[in-house]
Order: sequence, then structure tokens, then C-alpha cells
Amino acid sequence: MTTTYLSADWVIPMAGSEFAIADGAVVLEDDRIAAVGVARDLAARKEAADRVVSLPGHAILPGLVNTHTHVAGAITKAMTEDVSGYGGAFKVALPLHEHYVRKEDVYLPGLLHAVEMIRTGTTTINECWWHQPESAKVIRDSGLRGVVAAEVREMDSSEAGFGRMERNWNRRMADEGVEEAIDLLENWHGKADGRITCRVAPDGPDRCTPRLLVQLKELADKYGVGLHAHTASVPGEAEFMLHTYGKRTIHFLHDLGLLGPGYIGAHCAFVDDGEIEVMRATGTCMSHTAYLVAKRGYYPPMEKIYKAGVSVSLGSDWLSNDMWKVMRFAALIPRVLSGDVGIRSGRDVLRMATIDGARCLGMDDSIGSLEAGKKADLVAVDMRKPWYHPFRADDLAANLVFNGNSGDVSEVFIDGRHLVSSGQMTQIDEHKLIGEARAAAQSVWTRAAPLFAR
Ligand SMILES: [Zn+2]
Repeated sequence: MTTTYLSADWVIPMAGSEFAIADGAVVLEDDRIAAVGVARDLAARKEAADRVVSLPGHAILPGLVNTHTHVAGAITKAMTEDVSGYGGAFKVALPLHEHYVRKEDVYLPGLLHAVEMIRTGTTTINECWWHQPESAKVIRDSGLRGVVAAEVREMDSSEAGFGRMERNWNRRMADEGVEEAIDLLENWHGKADGRITCRVAPDGPDRCTPRLLVQLKELADKYGVGLHAHTASVPGEAEFMLHTYGKRTIHFLHDLGLLGPGYIGAHCAFVDDGEIEVMRATGTCMSHTAYLVAKRGYYPPMEKIYKAGVSVSLGSDWLSNDMWKVMRFAALIPRVLSGDVGIRSGRDVLRMATIDGARCLGMDDSIGSLEAGKKADLVAVDMRKPWYHPFRADDLAANLVFNGNSGDVSEVFIDGRHLVSSGQMTQIDEHKLIGEARAAAQSVWTRAAPLFAR
């Protein structure tokens, strides 16, 4: 057994009554947290430790939990942000992924997206997309903890949106997706020392037939795992659901029996009061992609969602996976829309990005806070920067969320492995990987020339 003793000016456990422990320490035993407390109370542990990591001026906090990601999204980095209307997703990203990205294109850009996540302090992701055995390899090789699911769709997803009411259902796509989902559940669940677990992911209720949605729910139940799906995610979805099924997304999913604490709905941008009430009553969890949706020019009705008491965690979706940006937008945009500065505090969004995310994933017994017995997933933020100072310790959460930068994350431990040290990846040559990922993405962009010529 290897023991590591870490000390810092502040330890933020996200558990217990104290927000921060001044002059705190965390003791790791292999992949587990053995003790958390005031450094002087753990002096004997320091003496006995194999390794001592002293972090003056730092804050140690639980690794961030991102409840909605697509590592393959690296191939569309910065490509959709300035495209107006529905165009970013439906004219660029989805056609590129549907028609040009092949299985063998995913690994290297995906690994770079994973490095972005780790370097910015994320330790657990909830991942779905296509070619997911490749994403499972990304999680395995990057050192991330990940919940991975094959995103199953029954149509060319680039043909949804724009208020289209017709669908060219494609049973072959659905069958292939189910096959990939079973492959993951059989071959990846519990792998990489248990860092990888699986879910089942219908793409979205407007891109699957009811038959497929029920089949996927049965598959999730058979394997005892949860669901993860884009939900009320794009403009035009509610209109399609009303036109086709006579009910909005959340009511439709509820009537099919999909909702509950095991269901994570990504975005939930277009939900009305009745749907919010169903989400609350069923214990359905929302992955609030606070930064991504703002780029698209819309936003979920967070004031109502918080007031109702819906479980809310934070997700990046893709393009940027910096959870500090997601936290900041989750705090700020609802203030703009509601005029209420108190709607979400720095402390609230830190909780959403850690323990609340863990709870949505059903993993709060093992991650999301710094407590003895939990997995050794933690990050340290180097606060010896002018943009944090001077400050009173009472304002630590607000200082981190509103003044901090993801580049200040200096240390990252996942499953007890020290993956970032002094701001540098310890296991992966980042610059080499950037070159390789660019080359892989460039080959996709070259093939996709007709798309960009449009
Ligand atoms: Zn997504």
C-alpha cells in the first residue's frame, strides 16, 4: 500500500458542516481517501506517509463531476459557436459527425478532450456518443473516471431540428446502436480498475421511436444501470413531440416509464411548468449545460427548476469542457434572467459540480466529496495568483468560482493516481498529443470539404 499525505492552506471537503478546513490535509491510501482534517491533527499520518505533497497557497477540493460529455466533440472544437440559429448543431456539428467522422477518427481527438477535462480539474465524466468503445479506450488511457454509454439513434440526427415534423426512421441504425450498447455493457462495465462503468443512452426522444426507447429502458434495467439522454434539448423538439405524440417531451418519457432517479436528462432547455413538476416528482436528474446552451442563445428556466427542487448537476456537452466556465455561467445567467443575485451562489455551483453530480450518477457513496473511504479523486487549485488576492477566507467559494481560472488547477488525482503535477500531465505528452489530434481532425475536415463549402 502507498500512502500519500497532501496539505494545503484550505481543504474544501463538500461534506460536513465546515465549507473549508484551514491548514488542512488529506491522506490517501492507494485509490482511497483515508483521512481528511486539520493538518496538525494528522501529523502522525504525515510521519508515516510514503509521499508528502505540500501545497502552500492552494485549495484542495473534490474532483469535478461532468454529467454530460461527448469526447468525440473535439473534432468540432470552436466550429459551431458563431453559427447563428440552429446552424451550429444542425448545419455543422451533426452532419460532420453523421457523414464524415469514422470510428478510427475518434480516439486521438477524444484523448485530447479528456486531457482538457483532467487538466481543468474534472475527474469523472458521464459520456455518450457514437463509436463508444473508442471513448471507453479514451477513458481507460487518460486515467479519467467515466460512465460510458452508446448513444442510440434511429435516424440521421442532422435531419432533426429546424422544426421538422417528418422522420425517416432507420431500424438498422437503431439495431446497430443497441448492439454497441450491449458490447459496452458486456465488455467495459467495471473495467480499468472499476474506473469505467456503463449506462444506456437513447440519443433523444425525438430521434428514437417509442419502441426503441422502451427497448433501451429494458436493457438498462436488465443490466441494473441508469439512462442518459438529450432531453428537451433543442428548439423545435417540443413542437415535434406535440405534433407527433400529442404531448411534450417530459410527459412522453414519463408515460413510457423512462423517468426516475436513474435518468439523467441533458440540457432540459425547453421544459414548461408541468414538465418541471414531473421531473421533480420522479426524481429525474438534469444535467445543466450552462455554458453550451448560452452559446446557442437559449437557456433552461432555471429559476422555476431550482424553486421546484429538481436535482440539477452540471455538464459541458462538448466544444469546451472547462467546468469552471460551466460553473460561472450556471451562477451568472440565471441572475441576469431573474434579477436575483441570490439564485445561485459560488458555493451552490461548486456543490452542483461535485457532490450533486455524483448523486445524479448514483455514485455519491464513492466520489463527489472528500471523506474517508471515498475514492481518491481530488484537485488542487493554486491560488497564489494576483486575481485571487487579497481575500478573506470566508469568501473562498466566491473567490474560486468568480475569480479563478481552470489553468490554476495544479494537481489532479484520480483513483489515487497523480495525473497532473504542477499543472502538467504526468502520463501523457500533451504537445505530442495536440499534434496527433490535429492531424486526425484535419483528415476528417479534408474529407468533409463539401460540408464546409456549403
Ligand atoms: Zn450532448
